[in-house]
Amino acid sequence: MTDLREPETGAPGLTVSDLTIRYGDTEAVRGVSVQVRPDETVAVVGPSGCGKSSTLRAVAGLTPVAGGAIGLGGRDITHLDPARRGVGLVPQDYAVFPHMSVAGNIAYGLRARRLPADRRRRRVAEMLELTRLTELAGRRPGQLSGGQRQRVALARALAVEPDVLLLDEPLAALDPQLRGGLRRELSAMLSSSGCATLIVTHDQREALSLGTRIALMREGTLVQFGTPRELWEDPADAFVADFLAGAVLLEAERSPDGAAVLDGRWRIPAEDLGTGPTGHGRTRLLLRDDSLTVTDRDDGAAVTARVVHAEFVGDAVRLTVDAHGHVFGVRVPPDARIGRSVSLAVVPGRATLLVPAP
Ligand code: ADP
Repeated sequence: MTDLREPETGAPGLTVSDLTIRYGDTEAVRGVSVQVRPDETVAVVGPSGCGKSSTLRAVAGLTPVAGGAIGLGGRDITHLDPARRGVGLVPQDYAVFPHMSVAGNIAYGLRARRLPADRRRRRVAEMLELTRLTELAGRRPGQLSGGQRQRVALARALAVEPDVLLLDEPLAALDPQLRGGLRRELSAMLSSSGCATLIVTHDQREALSLGTRIALMREGTLVQFGTPRELWEDPADAFVADFLAGAVLLEAERSPDGAAVLDGRWRIPAEDLGTGPTGHGRTRLLLRDDSLTVTDRDDGAAVTARVVHAEFVGDAVRLTVDAHGHVFGVRVPPDARIGRSVSLAVVPGRATLLVPAP
């Protein structure tokens, strides 16, 4: 049933309802609705150009809104001045003030709000502690590592107790080798801050590990919004499956003795399938890297695939193969003899049948 009520902007946390953003004739964001509860982190993820930054900038008041509404902490902020919205923005380059100390940077917004000196000192000390910068309080940003500068920007944004924290590609400017550790560190700081957070990222690993919920966008629209587990286990479509998990989602025809895929050219026996819908009917088959194996079997339960690429990954060789126009990944032992084509079968229990798309 279509909901014809006015967009809901009175809820606590952040509510983006039916957001549309245009640049001239280009519709960069179309009808996007996302909610961030007061205690959670929502990661907006998707390929470059899908409208993530535009969405974040609209919440910050830096991009005009062509349609829809934005609510924060029970107020309609759709057209409010950026400085009065109650958002804490950490831009991609962190934009810390180079001529101020770490403590000076954190105190900046508190000074602007004319907070009395004793309360200001207390709040700065709290933020230094939260971001583990107490020892570095007197340093200038030029004397810090990239990860430490990011923590300064985070502490400065959180100091003023915003209703929502906005992080634009928080790890993109940092050394790739350090990102794993910094991601865990950021995740811990965000949960102890207790502030509603909206993160924009193009990196699916970042979205999966930082988001309590994920909003996946493509070409200006929202494709799926849910917990990482929901998107991982029950992707809305093949794009979501591929983008988040490098998985393949195929149309399948279920019968009591198994599932037929690739227009009936591959018949997977029921005993090889995991739990899922039973009986007759249309379903979808989700295949991950660990769902498939190379087999000697040459019956209907296996499908022949052309080897497109082989990549040594230490404990295995990862093959990229093409079966009737669908590209799959499959891991084989490093010493396996592989020709130009292979016979593929599912590893029993590792392929999942999903209910049909609505
Ligand atoms: P993402 O953050 O997902 O990479 P953006 O929100 O930056 O995507 O951009 C979405 C679309 O809007 C892209 O096609 C981009 O080229 C366009 N766009 C973004 N900012 C502007 C702008 N200031 N003027 C014109 N087009 C823009």
